[in-house]
Amino acid sequence: MADNDVAVYDPENIFAKMLKGEIPCHKIYEDGDTMAFLDIMPRTEGHALVITKEPAVDLFAISAQGLDKLMAVVQKLAPQIKAAVGADGVMIQQFNGEAAGQTVLHLHVHIVPIKEGVPVKPHAGDMANADELAATAEKIKAVLEG
Ligand code: AMP
Repeated sequence: MADNDVAVYDPENIFAKMLKGEIPCHKIYEDGDTMAFLDIMPRTEGHALVITKEPAVDLFAISAQGLDKLMAVVQKLAPQIKAAVGADGVMIQQFNGEAAGQTVLHLHVHIVPIKEGVPVKPHAGDMANADELAATAEKIKAVLEG
């Protein structure tokens, strides 16, 4: 598909199924408008995704109000995730369109904590160990709920 074509939102995409509770995820946060969980192929420890509950393929399909809510949650969670994993900085990434690297066509923002001297793995690379993801999620939730 050409990148200037508008993709149709698929209500059965993997993140939509997570929102409906049809497939599991390592959830760290949820409110009325958003949900956040750990990326199953983390680039670093604590790599999380924040998604909208409003169905939208990408940044250009969301309402202005929905985008405000999404970014407010990114701003709130990122420093807490950074603290929970002992990182030195945070990379925020967001891809629009397959040509730009988007693999799941439901709007989401990546929160990638960065530790000085620790390499960042490739985007959508290796699957993480489920026990390690669960332990990281608990560590993050302890800070978020603390
Ligand atoms: P993007 O390439 O920006 O669309 O990012 C999609 C991200 O979703 C990738 O980093 C994947 O590793 C991640 N991902 C795909 N399936 C799952 C899943 N079942 N649970 C958590 N993260 C996932």
